[in-house]
Amino acid sequence: MSETTGILAIVSGFSGAGKGTLMHELLSRYEGYSLSVSATTRKPREGEMDGRDYFFIGREEFERMISEHAFIEYARYVDNYYGTPKKYVEDQLAAGKDVILEIEVQGAMIVKQQYPDAITVFVTPPNAAELKRRLEGRKTEAADVIAGRLKRAGEESELMAMYDYLLVNDDLQESTKKLHDIITNAHARMNANGEFVSRIQRELRAM
Ligand code: ADP
Ligand code: 5GP
Repeated sequence: MSETTGILAIVSGFSGAGKGTLMHELLSRYEGYSLSVSATTRKPREGEMDGRDYFFIGREEFERMISEHAFIEYARYVDNYYGTPKKYVEDQLAAGKDVILEIEVQGAMIVKQQYPDAITVFVTPPNAAELKRRLEGRKTEAADVIAGRLKRAGEESELMAMYDYLLVNDDLQESTKKLHDIITNAHARMNANGEFVSRIQRELRAM
């Protein structure tokens, strides 16, 4: 078994920045990642699958999960609830997997308090006009929903400086590699190598 523990990587970014696309690329190009599947009260978009993209659940079930403390965090985003189920994340980290949470800013801050060693990455397109183009080009939301998401992006931009890493998603392939490198490098941090440190200390004491 590996001596390094799994890295918890929190990825946030404006709606339409390309987070979902990046996650898909990362998982198809590289081994060893576990993507946490959130629960949401939002309706599925065309092509989205229950259990793969989200657990699509009703408001009542979401509230029951809140009362059972089944979420690491949950947040209201525009008109819906989104939450990170606790069990999957803890099981995967314990198994030494790198776990990615693709969540919005409020949730990211709550997770960071509970898991201080987590790394945080903020994804943005190169400029605001491109964000609008991507949101409109996706053709999954009506104009009023897009307006709500752009307004939310403005609010989120006030908090993006709190993140450890900035990822400007211009060229998709390049950005995917950068994200992989950020997470890979996190494995070299001293606080991710507690077991190695303890072992070599033990070995040296025994010499
Ligand atoms: P998010 O998950 O952040 O809301 P998506 O992954 O759904 O964003 O991407 C929004 C739109 O932008 C999609 O139509 C996607 O194909 C496109 N897109 C994603 N990444 C890039 C990129 N690097 N360059 C150009 N378009 C992109
Ligand atoms: P979308 O509706 O576009 O899939 O997601 C809307 C926003 O909710 C995105 O910013 C996404 O990162 C965020 N989100 C998805 N799952 C979770 C979650 O479990 N918790 C939190 N706090 N945000 C989430």
